[in-house]
Amino acid sequence: MSRSAAAIEIENLIGGTPRPAASGRSFEKLRPADGAFLCRASASARADVDAAVSAAREAQPGWAGVTAVERGRLVRELALELHACRDAAAGIVVAETGKPLELALGEVDAAVEMGHFVAGEGRRLYGRTTTSATPNRTVMATRRPVGVAGLIVSFNTPLPNYAWKVFPAVLCGNAAVLKPSEHTPSSAALFGELCNELLPPGVVNVVHGIGSEAGSSLVESPDVDLVSFTGSAKTGRWIAEHGGRRLAKVVLELGGKNALVVCDDADLQRAVEWSLASAFSNAGQRCAAASRLVVFDSVYEEFREQLLDGAQGYETGPVISEESLARILGALEGARVVGGGERIDRPGWWLAPTVVEGVDRDADLSCTELFGPVAILYRVRDLEDAIALVNHSPYGLTSAIHTASLHRAMRFVDEVEAGVVVVNGGTHGSEPHMGFGGVKQSGTGWREAGVEALDVYTEWKYVNLISDPAKT
Ligand code: NAD
Repeated sequence: MSRSAAAIEIENLIGGTPRPAASGRSFEKLRPADGAFLCRASASARADVDAAVSAAREAQPGWAGVTAVERGRLVRELALELHACRDAAAGIVVAETGKPLELALGEVDAAVEMGHFVAGEGRRLYGRTTTSATPNRTVMATRRPVGVAGLIVSFNTPLPNYAWKVFPAVLCGNAAVLKPSEHTPSSAALFGELCNELLPPGVVNVVHGIGSEAGSSLVESPDVDLVSFTGSAKTGRWIAEHGGRRLAKVVLELGGKNALVVCDDADLQRAVEWSLASAFSNAGQRCAAASRLVVFDSVYEEFREQLLDGAQGYETGPVISEESLARILGALEGARVVGGGERIDRPGWWLAPTVVEGVDRDADLSCTELFGPVAILYRVRDLEDAIALVNHSPYGLTSAIHTASLHRAMRFVDEVEAGVVVVNGGTHGSEPHMGFGGVKQSGTGWREAGVEALDVYTEWKYVNLISDPAKT
């Protein structure tokens, strides 16, 4: 299947039909790379969300009645269709995010791979059996769909973000309402279109709009059984509070202030390469970005010099919006910027890869996620000092250490407060079969991707079969 470029007018997808917002309102999406107009999308509010939730509610029982094997087959078809329009999909992502084409292509591939992995679960979706103190009693636990899933995601890697939630949600027999970021309506429209071509109407609905209107309505809808959210801790806190009030199942994957430690026995050149990629790829707009580079005193100067060299001219892509750029520049005010730190003189929202040093570990800059191409350099005495600094953070998503010492690596693995640890690599994320998530304010204990995602999108049902009632 070949797909044309992004549509100019993007409507919601409800019950298999494109629909404008009931209010008739829409919002404008601009291209981060040059600030030019890209498209308009429906500015949805409660009425639109209610319509999408009703469509999902209506479709869900029928969908849950389709075998898991068949649902898996359809997810595989979706992955194949996405692969078939790889170039067009990547082109749409480049237009709406400004990231380099190579990254966008990699993201399409990642979404496709997630589809293939999840599809296989249609032939597993294993339950459990257990023993019983009662004779002739068989006890088993089976996975059941949660019901209607409200899926709210960030803009940063749009297609993988949809794939990580929509694929396991539908595989498990849920119907979904996807609320994409207001920054990425075009990729969500493409994704919704693919789903609509292959799945029964109402199984995947897409509602565009800004978070405080469309997203909040989804969280507050009494008919949404599960809210699965990927975004900032600030929004996550609001969602936990409002979803919690009505006792919905709320799953939060939040931000990070991830640290990469460079020991004095590290391969310095590799450590620099990984630091650059971890801090600056996708303009630092990765939950797993290394925004804190923690370097042993004895190699600090050498590492700093190589890092600054590499940062100059590193191709990051722009940040997502004018507001985002202004927020990051505001946060840098007064900081000791040793590389970058200024807006690049061209249209769009470009920030030079930025390196800061001399920041106190308690300062706002150390504790706040900027979600931009900004890395802070810290100087530490030894491993103990490094681990203390790494753990001195409200977040705990990913982490990395560069060292030749197995002992140091294992100590770091044991003591670091993070959901992901990497030895001698970047603070990079996950592959489809690996659970991903964080501790502390990076999440609420759930893991996405991997078979762990099945826990998000199913509930356990314990079944007791008494096979010979007379003999129990
Ligand atoms: P954000 O919190 O501003 O927005 C995320 C989504 O929530 C968007 O769709 C937005 O419209 C919606 N939203 C905003 N307010 C809402 C509300 N009151 N109710 C419901 N929905 C609302 O985050 P962002 O700027 O899009 O993304 C950046 C953040 O996402 C960073 O903190 C990053 O670390 C995090 N992130 C985390 C992961 C992870 O797996 N842990 C992955 C990617 C991004």
